[in-house]
Amino acid sequence: IHAAVVALLLCGSVLLLQRKLGPDSMLARELRSAIAKEQFELFFQPQVDGAGGLIGAEALLRWKHPRLGYVAPDNFIPIAERAGLMPELGGWVLRTAVETLSAWSLREDTKDLVLSVNVSPDQFFKEDFFENVTSALEASAIEPRRLQLELTETMFVADVDGLVKKMKALQDRGIGIALDDFGTGYSSLSYLRQLPLQQLKIDRSFVWAITTKRGALLVRSIAQMGHDLGLEILAEGIETDEQFQFMLDCGCSAFQGYHFGRPLALHAFEDRFV
Ligand code: C2E
Ligand code: MG
Ligand code: MG
Ligand code: MG
Repeated sequence: IHAAVVALLLCGSVLLLQRKLGPDSMLARELRSAIAKEQFELFFQPQVDGAGGLIGAEALLRWKHPRLGYVAPDNFIPIAERAGLMPELGGWVLRTAVETLSAWSLREDTKDLVLSVNVSPDQFFKEDFFENVTSALEASAIEPRRLQLELTETMFVADVDGLVKKMKALQDRGIGIALDDFGTGYSSLSYLRQLPLQQLKIDRSFVWAITTKRGALLVRSIAQMGHDLGLEILAEGIETDEQFQFMLDCGCSAFQGYHFGRPLALHAFEDRFV
C-alpha cells in the first residue's frame, strides 16, 4: 500500500507539473527563451570504484525555472528533442561540463575525475558535433580522456557505419564513449558486436531485479559478457549495499546511485564528495 501511495503521489506530481508547464508548444517556446537566457544548471552525481572511491561524475541537466524551481530532465528533454532544441541545449551542456573539467584540472584532488555527459541523437549527428567537442577540449587544454560521452540505443538507427565512424573519430582523440541504460533498448546485443565502446552502463532496472533468481542470473551474465568484450562495466541505480555487493561480485568496476550520492549542484557536490 505504501508503494502504491508513493507511486500515485509521484504520478500526480508529474501530471501537476505538466499542467503547470502547459502544453508542448508553449513549453517549447518557454524552453527556447530559457536557452537564450541560460536558465539551466548541471548537477553532478558521483561515480565510484569498487572501494567506494570517487572516480568521476555524471553531469545531469536541470532547468532552473523562474516559477517552478528546478525541473528534472524527463519533464523537458523529450519536448526539447521534438522541438529540435537539443543540439543547442546540448551544446550548452558540453561547454559547461568542459568549464567544470577545466576548474577540476587545477586541483590535485579533482584533476583525475572523469565527467560523463549525456548526448542526444540530434546533437550527436549534427555536422559540427565533433568539432564542437574537440575544440572545447583543446581551448581549455583538458585531457580528452577526462570527458566521456553517454549515448543511448535510441540513437542507433539505420546508418550504423556512419555512427561507427563518428564514434571512432572521437575515440581516436581519446574521448571515451559509454552506452547508457544498457539492456532497455530493442537491439542491444547486435550493437555490442558493432560499436566501439569503453563503458557499458547496466540499466538500473536490471540492478533492481537481483532479488529474483532470474534477475540475478541475467545481470550476472550481462556483466560477464561486457567484461569479456573488454568493456568497463558500470552498474546504475545502486540504492542499497546489497545491490552494491552483488554488482561488485558480478565484476562491475564502477558504480552510481543514490547509495553513494544523489545528483547535486556543483558546490554541494564538491563539498560533499571531493
Ligand atoms: P540517465 O542518463 O540514465 O541518468 C541517470 C538518471 O537516474 C538521473 O536522473 C539520476 O538522477 C537517476 N538516478 C541515479 N541514481 C539513481 C538511483 O539510485 N535511484 C533512482 N531512482 N534514480 C537514480 P535525471 O537527472 O532525472 O535524468 C534523467 C535522464 O535525463 C537521464 O538519464 C538522461 O537520459 C537525461 N539527461 C539528463 N541530463 C541530460 C543532458 O544534459 N543531455 C541529454 N541529452 N540528456 C540528459
Ligand atoms: Mg546518462
Ligand atoms: Mg542511465
Ligand atoms: Mg536514462
